[in-house]
Amino acid sequence: MTIPLRLMVFTDLDGTLLDHDTYSWAAAQPALAALKDLSAAVVLASSKTAAEVGTLRAALGLQDWPAIVENGAGHLPPGVSSVQGGSGYADLRQILAGLPPDLRQNFRGFGDVTLAQLGEMTGLPPAGAQLAQQRDFSEPGQWLGTVQQQADFLTHLQAQGVSAQQGGRFLTLSFGGNKVDQLRKIVQRYAPQHTIALGDAPNDVQMLEATDFGVVVANPHRAPLAPLQGEAEGRIIRSTAAGPQGWNAAMLHFLDRLQLNKG
Ligand SMILES: [Mg+2]
Repeated sequence: MTIPLRLMVFTDLDGTLLDHDTYSWAAAQPALAALKDLSAAVVLASSKTAAEVGTLRAALGLQDWPAIVENGAGHLPPGVSSVQGGSGYADLRQILAGLPPDLRQNFRGFGDVTLAQLGEMTGLPPAGAQLAQQRDFSEPGQWLGTVQQQADFLTHLQAQGVSAQQGGRFLTLSFGGNKVDQLRKIVQRYAPQHTIALGDAPNDVQMLEATDFGVVVANPHRAPLAPLQGEAEGRIIRSTAAGPQGWNAAMLHFLDRLQLNKG
């Protein structure tokens, strides 16, 4: 007999579970420990690569749960540290290589640059840049041309099934998929009784609106999100404290509210 999963938590990393400046999750430790006591699932959902998320997931002791990587372009199954047999990234690079050179030359992808250049593009230290370059599903990059050239570039890619998401810093190419697509597949597979999502940015909104409960974690480094669907009814709440501190308080609040807190 399998025990039903009572609670599944989906969480963004940067600015949500991880502190914006220090990348520490120490302040969320009490709530993480309470979730562990409940055998609740915690699914990390990030723009980071499988290589980056796998390292963090192991450090958090969450390797028994899947993780959503590269902004939902793919997922990292439980118990493994890398994605096996994914051909998405190689296919993307091949499609890029086949574009007319006048369009191709205006896109500077993570796979086009050296580690030192990637460090400059992302602000990551060399070890971090190396993990960010180990891609499985999507190719972020800088657009160096005009808006019209970008439209031509995207039309060529679209014809080959490639879509683009414009983020704060990078234009990210993939064969589709976002955080909420992956979330829905995972929820279907595990059928948890309750779901909660936590995030701090526009690319987390759909995820917060797709779960039973949501938490907008305060991030003083960006403009606050506009009111979300479900916020007026209290299905989605906002944390007062930023990052892991806000994460901790909001999670303990929901454990009380759902009467799941043993302590
Ligand atoms: Mg974030």
